[in-house]
Amino acid sequence: MTDANQTPSGPSGAGPMPIPGHIDPVPVPRPNLVEGVTPREDGRLDLIGLPKKRIAEMFETAGLDAKAAKLRAKQVYHWLYHRGVTEFEAMTDIAKTMRPWLAERFVIGRPEIVEAQHSSDGTRKWLLRTADAHDFEMVFIPDADRGTLCVSSQVGCTLNCRFCHTGTMRLVRNLTVGEIVGQVMLARDALGEWPKGRMDFSFGDGIDGADVADDEEEGSYTSDGRLLTNIVMMGMGEPLYNFDNVRDALKLVMDGDGLALSKRRITLSTSGVIPQMARCGEEIGVNLAVSLHAVTKDVRDEIVPVNKKYGIEDLLQACADYPGASNARRITFEYVMLKDKNDSDDDARELVRLLKKYDLPAKVNLIPFNPWPGAQYECSTPERIKSFSEIVFRGGISAPVRTPRGRDIDAACGQLKTAAEKKSRAELERLYAEKEKELG
Ligand code: SAH
Ligand code: SF4
Repeated sequence: MTDANQTPSGPSGAGPMPIPGHIDPVPVPRPNLVEGVTPREDGRLDLIGLPKKRIAEMFETAGLDAKAAKLRAKQVYHWLYHRGVTEFEAMTDIAKTMRPWLAERFVIGRPEIVEAQHSSDGTRKWLLRTADAHDFEMVFIPDADRGTLCVSSQVGCTLNCRFCHTGTMRLVRNLTVGEIVGQVMLARDALGEWPKGRMDFSFGDGIDGADVADDEEEGSYTSDGRLLTNIVMMGMGEPLYNFDNVRDALKLVMDGDGLALSKRRITLSTSGVIPQMARCGEEIGVNLAVSLHAVTKDVRDEIVPVNKKYGIEDLLQACADYPGASNARRITFEYVMLKDKNDSDDDARELVRLLKKYDLPAKVNLIPFNPWPGAQYECSTPERIKSFSEIVFRGGISAPVRTPRGRDIDAACGQLKTAAEKKSRAELERLYAEKEKELG
């Protein structure tokens, strides 16, 4: 058995006899040995997005014995997700000889930052790029008592909510687990928010004689006073149409030895993909937000076309059945205020009636419509929004009006869209018709 202290030279012993004269220039694991992980051009494999078990498998494939692989995976996992290091050289409890071995075979990736913008109200927006050159966006919204990161789940969206700029894009592809958790990690990088100081746990068996950095002050480890306190899956895309990747990414975010953010501080927003809602509650357990936006079939069919497939009453029933919903953990209903479309007093009364009919532990977020070039709607007047809000409040349901944030840099709800090319109304209608056909 390989000693855990030993730095292996590769999968020697188990591999084929060397072929005389044949030189294999890069001694790295073969792509077909690591399912689902695409190697970089230099053959190295990105660890970001992998859970501890997969990291251990990768280390074993690369030549460590099972016990050593498991131990290394535990250490590396902690450094990656809990401490945010991006270089193996910084992993101070891993033997100095082992670190180059890791660096030859693996990388610790982040999405590439193409552009970073700052709004006058403090909101920050990043244009990010995947390794295969697709652009997507992430937004950070600081408030007095919290800081919320708005994370994307897809590049584009298959749905075509008529008031949403992202809806004018085709779906390019789902984001991977690494690209989703990578957004949160990038935000921590940018905000300088990785825990500092000594590691606050021990691996117990003293392997390597852990040379914890001397330059770090003992006891300075802290997770309090952070800027980034909340996550909302409300960026580009429909998270429940990329369920597995969103779930696996949020597991890394919620893991106490990972990014360690409580599930109570994470909210997933869906336009109402009913079949995945129960799984969201059971397998992820985060707060749910539902983009309701209308109370009649006609209007919701028009502005949130997925309603033709999953109607309002079924949606509210699925909310009533959402695992974990309670008065302490209410479901948020998002309602975008569109002038003369969904903003009458009757609409407000119907909203109260519906939420009560299903006995929902609900709160309503009224979102003033954020305009974008070519949008066919206008925002309701402030008086209309106030009247709507008061009716819902009087019905016993909290209905605050959200202050739009980051409008000056197109970072507000529904303004996210990359590779912006202006489409004519006729082109948009064609795109919407195609998307609806695909939706079935
Ligand atoms: N696809 C998911 C999450 C992303 S959208 C969903 O639809 O729920 C995040 C929120 O912004 C949703 O409630 C969405 O309906 C809302 N939104 C979209 N476009 C908007 C716009 N132009 N103005 C205000 N809110 C908008
Ligand atoms: Fe997609 Fe959500 Fe925009 Fe609808 S509101 S088009 S589901 S991102």
